[in-house]
Amino acid sequence: MSLFRKAGEKFEETKRAFTNAREPAFVCRSCEEPVSEEYEHCPHCGEAAVEPVE
Ligand SMILES: [Zn+2]
Repeated sequence: MSLFRKAGEKFEETKRAFTNAREPAFVCRSCEEPVSEEYEHCPHCGEAAVEPVE
């Protein structure tokens, strides 16, 4: 239960980061970390799960 709650809080932080960013942002669908470029592989977790965010 607490694990799901923690994941939800992290997702809220990620959304806030996008709101504050003025340039196009990307996010890793695997670890939900925001990244500044459309990396082929996420610099945080190494998964090929980086996608653009609108
Ligand atoms: Zn990642």
